[in-house]
Amino acid sequence: MRIVFLGPPGAGKGTQAEIISKEKKLPHISSGNLLREAVETKSETGRKARDYIEKGLLVPDEIVVDIIKDRILRDDCKSGFILDGFPRTLSQAKVLDEMLKKLGNRLDLVFYFAVSEESVVLRLTGRRICSSCGANYHEKFVPSEKEGICDKCGGTLYQRADDKLETVQERIRVYHEQTEDLIEYYKKSGILKEVVSDVNIEIITKNISDSIESALKKKDLISDGVV
Ligand code: AMP
Repeated sequence: MRIVFLGPPGAGKGTQAEIISKEKKLPHISSGNLLREAVETKSETGRKARDYIEKGLLVPDEIVVDIIKDRILRDDCKSGFILDGFPRTLSQAKVLDEMLKKLGNRLDLVFYFAVSEESVVLRLTGRRICSSCGANYHEKFVPSEKEGICDKCGGTLYQRADDKLETVQERIRVYHEQTEDLIEYYKKSGILKEVVSDVNIEIITKNISDSIESALKKKDLISDGVV
């Protein structure tokens, strides 16, 4: 199964991608994580991407596309993947389609995470991350027992630079301007499923999981020649 998680920042794509990735044994590919790793290791790509990320702007297509192409070509992606945060522009979507076509594949499903702007701002500005193990917390919704300290490993919690209110507002603006058009693009290709993500995590996971299962069954019937 080749799956894309699409939606505004803070819609819960990353959280769901982690859970579904384990459940369905599909690699979780987060363009944001790959870019942040590149920034941390101070690679050439990371140096180029850093300013854009900190300002809440999109990193230029050619940088992101190369990172994603390399990742998708790895062996563990042969039977599928979950892309989280990519594509974010129409041209990225077209490059992805072309690339999969060359490999004799195509996207099976795109989940669009529909969420109110209010929730996005609350979720992102309250998010805290452990500097040692990467665990996610939220000041109000998932607080650590001791303020600023990770329950799992005792590491220090920090706020991502781009989760500060001003940058969050910029990221939302960029989403409306450059990413939202993808909803229509994938609707037209008939693979878009909307996930209401203002409800609790377990309900969202079940909705996604059920849709994947029924798409898998359909795929099997087609390859068996039944349909
Ligand atoms: P995320 O963790 O998905 O919210 O991504 C964090 C930041 O990484 C974004 O605000 C962008 O600056 C950059 N980024 C992630 N994915 C992409 C993408 N597909 N295209 C361009 N920039 C991206």
